[in-house]
Amino acid sequence: MTTAAAYAITAPDGSFEKVSIERRDLGPHDVLIDIKYAGICHSDIHTARNEWHGTSYPCVPGHEIAGLVAGVGSAVQKFKIGDRVGVGCLVNSCGKCGPCLADEEQYCLNGPIWTYNNPVEESVQVGGITFGGYSTEIVVTEQFVLSIPEGIGLDVAAPLLCAGATLYSPLRHWEAGPGKQVAIIGMGGLGHVGVKIAAAMGAEVTVLSQSLRKREDGLRLGASHYHATSDRQTFRELRGRFDLIVNTVSADLPIDDYLKLLSLNGTMVLLGLPDAALTVRANTLATRRRALAGSMIAGIAQTQEMLNFCAAHGIGAEIEVISADEIDGAYDRVMASDVQYRFVIDVATM
Ligand code: NAP
Ligand code: ZN
Ligand code: ZN
Repeated sequence: MTTAAAYAITAPDGSFEKVSIERRDLGPHDVLIDIKYAGICHSDIHTARNEWHGTSYPCVPGHEIAGLVAGVGSAVQKFKIGDRVGVGCLVNSCGKCGPCLADEEQYCLNGPIWTYNNPVEESVQVGGITFGGYSTEIVVTEQFVLSIPEGIGLDVAAPLLCAGATLYSPLRHWEAGPGKQVAIIGMGGLGHVGVKIAAAMGAEVTVLSQSLRKREDGLRLGASHYHATSDRQTFRELRGRFDLIVNTVSADLPIDDYLKLLSLNGTMVLLGLPDAALTVRANTLATRRRALAGSMIAGIAQTQEMLNFCAAHGIGAEIEVISADEIDGAYDRVMASDVQYRFVIDVATM
């Protein structure tokens, strides 16, 4: 077994503390990764603070992992020591159900194994619960390890493992591209990567943010338009405008107001995962044959496709690098929408 340093939270209102965890011995198909950077996703905060009601403590979050291969099992084919690799939200799935066979492991009918806070056998993770990337090392079966192409720094690549995959997948599924009007709600970790990817796909991108505070950044990252949702005029002016609206907001929104911004046959995709139920009027959907959908990260093959796409287009996340003892403060700043645009932990500081 490998002893790794990690940062764990022990209660919903607790603080992060340095702990030691054990990673399993390498099985034939396992890869040991020396983690260099771990992004802070808002899902880490929902989980750490038990906002989704299923958190086991101590909890080591982190599913935006970038590092170098430090060891490989005897049967590993894809990787060798020193390779630049990443791990996202998934570390395993059943491999047999329809979605798994269709390379959509995130929708595994037998439940994918999430990178953290997922009950597993002791042989998978000592302690019986998966521990994520706020840690110096992780062991992952090679099928769930991604290659980070040369040309993207490991620090700016880390957030792509969740945020990049989460935006790329629906933008592809609903065919964002030339001639399409795409709106992104929320200019945070997910949203800012979405602006870059949608613009690189050729869509005309509009950001819908609470204020105009981040407007210059949004335009620099590829948006053509930027509107404040605190201004009611935005909802009058943009009514019926968009083919696709991607909602990345982590909090409750008056979703019906935003649905009215969709054109005939337009779709709104929910990516943000606040716990509260939404209120939607059937009439808002019916009068323009609008659709409301959701989407969950991306499968492994599509995550690799996203990384290759980002490398080809020079896309990485906009990041603020922090040391491991700054996680609590970073969480508070994410909650205040005060991040430009993803916090990334420098794991060397653990
Ligand atoms: P984030 O960095 O905090 O960004 C969320 C953005 O939403 C904020 O920057 C802010 O943008 C906007 N926002 C926040 N509170 C708001 C409020 N009360 N009203 C209106 N807008 C508000 O979070 P993230 O890491 O991008 O994650 C966003 C959500 O996606 C979380 O719920 C997370 O759990 C979820 N998520 C889902 C998936 C999936 O697969 N579906 C994957 C990853 C994350 P402005 O300042 O521009 O308004
Ligand atoms: Zn995430
Ligand atoms: Zn499956």
